[in-house]
Amino acid sequence: MQFETVIGLEVHAQLLTKTKIFCSCSTQFGAPPNTHTCPVCLGMPGVLPVLNRTVVEYAMKMALATHCRILPRCRFARKNYFYPDLPKGYQISQYELPLGVDGWVEIETEAGQRRIGITRIHMEEDAGKLIHDEAQPVSYVDFNRTGVPLIEIVSEPDMRSPEEAAAYLRTLRDILRYLQICDGNMEEGSFRCDANISLRPAGSSGFGTKTELKNMNSFRNVQRALEFEVRRQRALLEKGEAVVQETRLWDPGRGVTVSMRGKEEAHDYRYFPDPDLVPVEIDQAWVDAVRSGLPELPDAKRERFIRQYDLPAYDARVLTASRDLADYFEAVVADFPQPKTVSNWIMSELMRELKRDEREIEDCPVSPSHLAELLQLMDRNVISGKIAKAVFKEMYETGASAKAIVEAKGLEQVSDEGAIDAVVREVLAENPKEVESFRQGKEKLLGFFVGQVMKKTRGKANPRLVNEMLLKALKG
Ligand code: ADP
Ligand code: MG
Ligand code: ZN
Repeated sequence: MQFETVIGLEVHAQLLTKTKIFCSCSTQFGAPPNTHTCPVCLGMPGVLPVLNRTVVEYAMKMALATHCRILPRCRFARKNYFYPDLPKGYQISQYELPLGVDGWVEIETEAGQRRIGITRIHMEEDAGKLIHDEAQPVSYVDFNRTGVPLIEIVSEPDMRSPEEAAAYLRTLRDILRYLQICDGNMEEGSFRCDANISLRPAGSSGFGTKTELKNMNSFRNVQRALEFEVRRQRALLEKGEAVVQETRLWDPGRGVTVSMRGKEEAHDYRYFPDPDLVPVEIDQAWVDAVRSGLPELPDAKRERFIRQYDLPAYDARVLTASRDLADYFEAVVADFPQPKTVSNWIMSELMRELKRDEREIEDCPVSPSHLAELLQLMDRNVISGKIAKAVFKEMYETGASAKAIVEAKGLEQVSDEGAIDAVVREVLAENPKEVESFRQGKEKLLGFFVGQVMKKTRGKANPRLVNEMLLKALKG
């Protein structure tokens, strides 16, 4: 029997506000434990939360960027459960009235573009962090993270393979980063995902029993966990056994998922509206203001790059992977309007160096204007393409400009016909046997002569002129 995979994701994204969602404590990562706390985020009795307006704005940005409808009135609710990292005994989240509903994003798959529905986006607070001591039988708790703002993005069960789930996650992360509202760091937990997965007989429209996977802190692990789960569920169904609805933890070391809790142990959160917080009313004017402040998003930028710069889709995708990279490209093109050449240089020479150093484009030692200057020198035949690559490496290492390097090292291409002719004659005089063979028809030797001339001019002779003048001298 053939099975079809059905996946829906619940993604949590930490918002990059300066302060927490319901108090003015700092959200800065990495501070000494329990230094960014106050009575509100420590859950003391008698305190009152006050909603951070920027959190609502950031959440609206994501909701609008993913084509959600913003509800005119949303409300915070208490999600009750007991855990040592949750001092109040409940998490402030949203339940029946979330911020946004009914959105979608387009993802790129092998079969082309697919639309994935977004059920809802809501705001909530993060919990604290438990730190388990390996050496002693104790656990510590750090409340710096309690009250850090999150949005939860819940998808429709629209993905049909682990690859699609990974593509959807990347798409969400790219949008969040373009909006500059989340750093998207999965390893540090500022972008995390729970994956729901089930199988059903191919062609059927109902849903099978799902499991929910947790504890995947990289794109690769999300994909691996889902791939494992597809195999596990398929094996059960093929034996005629039932999939048990449960939460399973991914164990990256062993490459398996293990049962964490079943349906019976599932939480009953006893959600109810939080009486400490008034409902949030969002009027059309506010929605319009946020919408008009949205930056150009990845899809739109990619399409514009294809249209405006006549780039292949592949180039456009690579160059728009981040806003900074796209800006870098456009800054170079502004000074050197040959987009495909610029794209080639960024995708090969530049990205190779960045990748080797594990650097981001923001930290690139070669500025856009310096790269444009290098390409101009090459375009005007002041230096050859080969020398340009060597100059680029040096620019990257030293931060110096192309002109400065070319001048200091005397790398200007020799296009003076007299000078080249002199070297050509020298080379022919030194290699009489090869000249003889060439004239008897062994024309492949041209490459040898070009090589000799280049060697004598330390790569600086204009290759087109060298070819022309050699042919003239050999044939004439
Ligand atoms: P729960 O109440 O268990 O959290 P929800 O209905 O809220 O379940 O759905 C949570 C996530 O699970 C959503 O992203 C949804 O798309 C996905 N989902 C729901 N049913 C299935 C299913 N049968 N197979 C795969 N994913 C599913
Ligand atoms: Mg769930
Ligand atoms: Zn606080």
